[in-house]
Amino acid sequence: MRTFTSAQSGAGGPNLRDVTTPDAQWAGRVRALAAERDAVILAHNYQVPEIQDVAHHVGDSLALSRIAASVPQSTIVFCGVHFMAETAKILSYDKTVIIPDERAGCSLADTITADQLRAWKAEHPGAVVVSYVNTTAAVKAETDICCTSSIAVDVVASVPHDREILFCPDQFLGAHVQRVTGRDKMHIWMGECHVHAGINGADLKAMVAAEPDAELFVHPECGCATSAMYLASEGVVPKERTRILSTGGMLDAARETKARKVLVATETGMLHQLRKVNVTTDFQPVNRAAVCKYMKMITPEKLENALRTGDDVVDVPCDIADRARASVERMIAIGTPSRVGE
Ligand code: SF4
Repeated sequence: MRTFTSAQSGAGGPNLRDVTTPDAQWAGRVRALAAERDAVILAHNYQVPEIQDVAHHVGDSLALSRIAASVPQSTIVFCGVHFMAETAKILSYDKTVIIPDERAGCSLADTITADQLRAWKAEHPGAVVVSYVNTTAAVKAETDICCTSSIAVDVVASVPHDREILFCPDQFLGAHVQRVTGRDKMHIWMGECHVHAGINGADLKAMVAAEPDAELFVHPECGCATSAMYLASEGVVPKERTRILSTGGMLDAARETKARKVLVATETGMLHQLRKVNVTTDFQPVNRAAVCKYMKMITPEKLENALRTGDDVVDVPCDIADRARASVERMIAIGTPSRVGE
């Protein structure tokens, strides 16, 4: 009989992590089931620590999707939210992609549908659509060039100046890119993520003021800290102690820092990786409530069940996958969108 005990998330409250602590044999069973199924387990940095530790690879969404395309296994078990599993499917179309709970959505991706994007395009004929990777496959299929936050400026700068740009769905990232590039023909979709909406200027200013020696790591991936990125570039928090870092950059900086304390502005799941690579620095979240409830829908129990049953399979219609893939590949042609954060 396998038993899972309930554990309360110190960061997010009991409703976000109902079942998280597996029994002692769980990791061994999961790895054995993965081998039987010829599956690789990929875990996003915002997964619960138990899942990060059992996964074959841990990283940000795009890095994981690129790993998915390169590994020999025929099945990908993607522990993350649904649009990420879709992206893995788009880039590895011949493989079976499984997500342990298909209801794990994303409040940012949900702010724009393909129909809404088509209507927006109709209002701006000839405009170039630039979409953040936090979008559904159907929205990517309506997109000219995808971007991550780390190369959003380069992607927008690659568009000829006389062309209009429709940027979606993250309003904070869009505002940041518009300010840096000085583009005036750029329209921004007013989407946001519930997690980064919770990392606000008041939190950042109060934390930084209370910790005069602490560094501030602001993670721009996954949309979770784009508001923080905006505040840092606006000078709301001191630039000399603020570092805007992608997943890989954040881990590199964590290895190198001599700071006694680092305040981390992102989803709190990232703290697990940071604390693993540097046990002497005290890494603390800017906002303990910055927990993505969708990410935490993937539990150890559901991961094991998915490996036993093969549910839930992620499917993307072929024509949508082809068009979505083209927008992702245009992004990759412009620059390295993110670093692997294993
Ligand atoms: S943290 Fe926000 S952007 Fe990231 S998956 Fe969760 S809802 Fe989406």
